[in-house]
Amino acid sequence: ERQETISVQACIEYALRLFHSRLRDDGIRVVQQWPDETLWVEGDLVRLEQVLVNLIGNAVQAMKEVKQPVLTLSAEIRQEQVIISVLDSGPGIATDHLGHIFEPFFTTKAPGSGLGLGLSISSRIMEDLGGKLQATNHTTGGACFTVTLPRSTAPE
Ligand code: ADP
Ligand code: MG
Repeated sequence: ERQETISVQACIEYALRLFHSRLRDDGIRVVQQWPDETLWVEGDLVRLEQVLVNLIGNAVQAMKEVKQPVLTLSAEIRQEQVIISVLDSGPGIATDHLGHIFEPFFTTKAPGSGLGLGLSISSRIMEDLGGKLQATNHTTGGACFTVTLPRSTAPE
């Protein structure tokens, strides 16, 4: 596993780029909210990108039936932690499910369209990186996933 200083904004952009045509085909509006200054964290870029890809993939799937789908990606500093949020305008997560979505093989998707492993793997990755992954429903109704990591400083 690699240990490097990662630009959070660059990592989000890499993950987003993979979804470029899917977002366009699904008519998903993407809102990006982050400071001009680069936010730095320590870890393995590929693994953090994998977590973001899982979260964006879930968000895209959740908005399939939504009329004006919006994906909001944000990054900010709070108490020396970098918080990355992936918010969608889908139906959100049922209250009964909130306590189970990080369990391996928990899925509400049709057989064949979800193995139920994305979030359990993602939360493991986040723990390995010294951070965490949390889920909430936003006041607007959609699901909001937040990735928290200790803030680092710019590489030499
Ligand atoms: P999978 O996507 O294969 O179902 P995940 O571990 O990625 O597995 O997600 C587990 C479950 O969490 C999903 O089946 C779904 O019920 C719920 N979930 C995850 N992301 C979202 C989201 N953005 N909106 C609503 N529900 C979600
Ligand atoms: Mg998934």
